[in-house]
Amino acid sequence: MAEAPRLRTVDEHLAVVLDGIGSIDPIELTLLDAQGLLLAENVVTDVALPGFDNAAMDGYAVRAIDVRDASEANPVVLPVVGDIAAGAKSRSGMGPGLSMRIMTGAPIPAGADAVVPLEVTDAGVAKVAVHRPVRSGECVRRAGEDLPVGAGALGAGAALGPQQLALLAAIGRDRVLVRPRPRVLVISTGTELIDVGRKPAFGEVTDSNSYLLSAAARDAGADVRRYGIVPDDHSQLLDVLESQLLRADMLITTGGVSVGAFDVVKQALSELGTVDFVNVAMNPGKPQGFGHLTPSGSGQNVPIFCLPGNPVSALVSFEAFVRPAVRKLLGKRNLQRATVQAVALETIPSRSGRREFRRGVLHREATGGYSVSLVGGSGSHLIASMAAANCLLVIDEEVTEVVAGSRVTVIPLLLANR
Ligand code: AMP
Ligand code: MG
Repeated sequence: MAEAPRLRTVDEHLAVVLDGIGSIDPIELTLLDAQGLLLAENVVTDVALPGFDNAAMDGYAVRAIDVRDASEANPVVLPVVGDIAAGAKSRSGMGPGLSMRIMTGAPIPAGADAVVPLEVTDAGVAKVAVHRPVRSGECVRRAGEDLPVGAGALGAGAALGPQQLALLAAIGRDRVLVRPRPRVLVISTGTELIDVGRKPAFGEVTDSNSYLLSAAARDAGADVRRYGIVPDDHSQLLDVLESQLLRADMLITTGGVSVGAFDVVKQALSELGTVDFVNVAMNPGKPQGFGHLTPSGSGQNVPIFCLPGNPVSALVSFEAFVRPAVRKLLGKRNLQRATVQAVALETIPSRSGRREFRRGVLHREATGGYSVSLVGGSGSHLIASMAAANCLLVIDEEVTEVVAGSRVTVIPLLLANR
């Protein structure tokens, strides 16, 4: 009997996948549309931050030298020659020995070099008693002290969160060049499938994978379109792929990749591009398809993942291979989810030579560490227990048993909350 071919390891398959993922041309977006994306340009400011010298507190603009002898017992009294509010359109000026009432953010008048905070004065209107000296520059925000004209504000590759968007707005940029969200198309294949909302007749199965994978891809940062269901029919699948391909940066199908008489995915794909179907040393998720489709005349190569149809297999496959690919398209450097070490609350047998992904519930112990228990059996059709899980346990290829009380690697399935 011929020896079974060596399976591709998870790491080997991931390397093949990532090698086959290119990049998408940057696009210009308005600030809030750019949230969560990576900057694709070096942004240099052509304005200073702050734009002009202004008051850091409500108080009185003075020359520091005029109040150097002020004290609680012997306040210095200065005439108040005007009021400056935030939004003052022109710069006022004042002579030596005088003062002006000034609001936080208002421009410092020419002739003044400090602001006396309201609290150390008698809050006078026509004249003001100052109860302590101030340093030159005290309570003054200098033009350009935050960012001078011509300085680099943000570099290419910067992640655009709330603070970075605020900075871009502050320097007058309302649009920026970013790495776009990849457009991901999700297709469920299977003649047994029906759309949610219909009552299944005997033998029919409601399509949950297209929701699972659309939500997962969106969570990973993609711009998702859920195409829905295509039956196990070679020409229908071919039609759908051909018509949808031009509008996608990545395709995900589920179903029809295992060895079975009705598996038409492989056949349809072979007419549109090159997709390799391989067995990966993992459980669940052993059969994996990955390759590229080439829309006719476009010269483009659209990566496609053909994931197994069992919901748990689809989720595990997504986490192992598709999420890192989406993140690579986004330009992210860190492609993997963070893992934690948790104490296994039960003994878990595992098959040697396979990387096992088990669903679990991760608990935070009062001591600060984590513990984890399994949820659901090993069946990859168990949707309810998949919904009860908040993490995946990762049991390495060479491990045959995780003994209760020992540590195991866990991937918390945290929502990105984008
Ligand atoms: P397949 O990979 O097509 O052989 O499907 C394996 C199992 O997953 C079968 O029991 C299918 O009915 C089920 N399945 C396939 N696609 C889906 C889907 N989109 N939603 C829910 N279950 C599915
Ligand atoms: Mg099927």
